[in-house]
Amino acid sequence: MMRHFSVTRHWNRGFRQARTICTTDWAMRASGQSSIGLISPGRMKVARRSFAGFTLIELLVVIAIIAILAAILFPVFSMARQKANMVSCLNNLKQLGGAFVMYANDNDGRYPSAQGPAGHVEINWCGSLGPSMWVYPERGQIWPYVKAIKVYGCPVDKNQVAPAIVYLPSGITSSRQYPLSYSMNNTISRGKPDGMAIRQPSQFMLLIHEARQIPGVHSDRELAGINDGVFVPQPLYDRDIPSRVHYEGTTLLYLDSHARYGSYNELKKEKDSRMWAPDDYVF
Ligand SMILES: [Zn+2]
Repeated sequence: MMRHFSVTRHWNRGFRQARTICTTDWAMRASGQSSIGLISPGRMKVARRSFAGFTLIELLVVIAIIAILAAILFPVFSMARQKANMVSCLNNLKQLGGAFVMYANDNDGRYPSAQGPAGHVEINWCGSLGPSMWVYPERGQIWPYVKAIKVYGCPVDKNQVAPAIVYLPSGITSSRQYPLSYSMNNTISRGKPDGMAIRQPSQFMLLIHEARQIPGVHSDRELAGINDGVFVPQPLYDRDIPSRVHYEGTTLLYLDSHARYGSYNELKKEKDSRMWAPDDYVF
C-alpha cells in the first residue's frame, strides 16, 4: 500500500509540474513571448556543459575497461577455437574409419593399401602414388565411401606447409595446399585384421594425425613428416611421428573404430611398445 501510495504521489507531482510548464508555455505563446528567451545565460551554460561529451579521463577509463575485457575474453575464444578444431579432426577420423569398414566389407574383409609394393606404383587408401609424390584423395581406394575432400584434412593444418611434399621429386618447389593430415598404419596394409596377430584392436592404431614436419631433426628435403599417408609404427623410427597441434598431442583412430586424443608422449610410448604392430610383424 505504501509503495503504491508513494508511486502515485510522485506521478501526481510530476503531472502537476508538467501541467504548470505547459500552462506557462501556452500563456507565453499567447502573449507573444518565447519561453526559451526566459532562460538566463548562466543556466544555458550549465545545460551546455552537461551535454559536452566525455572528458579525457572518462575516455581513458573506458579504453582501459575494454582492454581488460579483451585480455580476459581472447584466451577464452582461442581455447574454444582449439577445442572446435579437435572435435572436427576427431569427426574426420571417425568418417574415414567408417569408410575403411565399408571398403573391407566390399573386399572380403581386406583393408586398403597403405602403400604400393616396392617398385610398383599403386594408388593407396588416400590417393598417394608414393613418398613425396602428390596426393589425390578423389583417386584413393576409400573415396567412394567418403566423397568429401575436407574430411582428409584437419582444420589446424590448413595453410601449413608440408615440407616433405612441397619439394617434388623433380626439384620444383610447390606451395600448393597439401590436402592430407592423416596416415595409415603400414603394418595393416592390404591385410585382413581378422587373421592377423593383433592383441587389442582397441589399442591398435589404424589412422593418425601425423606431424606436418619434424623441425630440427631432418632437413626439409628429407622424407620426414607427412608425405604419403603412410605411418610406419616401428619403435624408435622418428620420421613418422604423431603431430602435436592439439594441446601438445594428436588425434588417432583405432581398429575398433573409436577415435580419441592422446598426448605426444603417451602415443610415442604406445608406438615404441609395439602396440601398433601385429605380434608377428617383422619390420
Ligand atoms: Zn587434427
